[in-house]
Amino acid sequence: MAEKFRLIYKEYKSAINKLKYPDSWFWVRYTINPYSGCAHTCIYCDARSQRYYLEQDFEHEIIIKRDIDKKLEHTLKRSRSMLPDVIGPGGVTDGWQPVEREVENTRKVLKVIAQNKYPIGISTKSSLIIRDIDILQKIALDTWCTVAFSITTTNEELAGFLEPFSSAPSERFETLKSLKEKVPQIQVGINLIPIIPFLEDNEDDLEDIVRKSKSAGADFILFSPGLTLRDSQAQFFINKLKESKYNYVVKPLLELYKGQMHPPSEYAKKLNLILYTMCQEYDINIREKRWIPNDFRKWNYKVSELLLNKEYLELVRTGKGSNIMKWAGLILNNLNESIIDVYRRGDLPKLKNFNKEVISIINPFLNEAAKSEPKQGIDKFLK
Ligand code: SF4
Repeated sequence: MAEKFRLIYKEYKSAINKLKYPDSWFWVRYTINPYSGCAHTCIYCDARSQRYYLEQDFEHEIIIKRDIDKKLEHTLKRSRSMLPDVIGPGGVTDGWQPVEREVENTRKVLKVIAQNKYPIGISTKSSLIIRDIDILQKIALDTWCTVAFSITTTNEELAGFLEPFSSAPSERFETLKSLKEKVPQIQVGINLIPIIPFLEDNEDDLEDIVRKSKSAGADFILFSPGLTLRDSQAQFFINKLKESKYNYVVKPLLELYKGQMHPPSEYAKKLNLILYTMCQEYDINIREKRWIPNDFRKWNYKVSELLLNKEYLELVRTGKGSNIMKWAGLILNNLNESIIDVYRRGDLPKLKNFNKEVISIINPFLNEAAKSEPKQGIDKFLK
């Protein structure tokens, strides 16, 4: 495998990127990629699509970002606009891909994050992450640490075909278990994303993942039915399928997608409901808990979490979410004063997307919060 990839060292001007809105699934606000490219080479990886403008040959080259830790340190120390918020190491790259074993770019980045007391939200397919448990523990105790393992099948042969150089699913479950047992303060979970139609959407197979997640100690499972099929990534994936023993799914897959990037909404609706019911039966959350800052953003983030979770639950249960509620939840993350002050002034209707429905949902919560710190979090409002 090592000889398959050419390693290129390169300097970049900036180390970290701020998202306009946090991701309402992973609650990540800043992204940092210690590498460009990913030797896990999952055959469905979206990094192959043209939207990412990767500058190297994805199948043969990995770019190692030189001095990324020093640049990150410099940015976190100097930038006044970078309020502490969740950093997500790795986007269209896995921070713990094989090259990390020697290069340790991700470990160096983690050290800087820990020293500067920023929370993190990680997603990986590698058991190598256990090497960094010392730093993850420090981050979890000082601020917040979420580690999610992406697992979409427990069939090791299928996983070996789809994700050839990632750790086997059984190793990922083992690593999750070990992380949770050693540091219970780390929030751990499974990203059941993407679920490939006709290969991974069988109910028994999905239940096997839910069962194993629960017994490994996962705090949550995030799921997303279907796989995005986009330009060059779609072509690569379909060609790989055609050359394999799984070629029988090509025809039904193309028929299902009908030339679109996503399967029809009915497909997602049905599978969402199945997985929602399963997770209820196994008593496992379908959302991650969010890191909450201890400054003026505290109630903004809590209310945002409440609205975005509520909108998502509605979508999963009925197949239809509310765009207004979603945007109300998102823009709250950029409010530069506390929503409690806005509430006390009676100015909630002046906030964009805060219609009567949204206000009626959050009013009881804000009323309680405005009097004093509520004893319970927002969970009781999510029933
Ligand atoms: S681990 Fe993630 S980034 Fe790496 S190839 Fe697989 S899907 Fe792409």
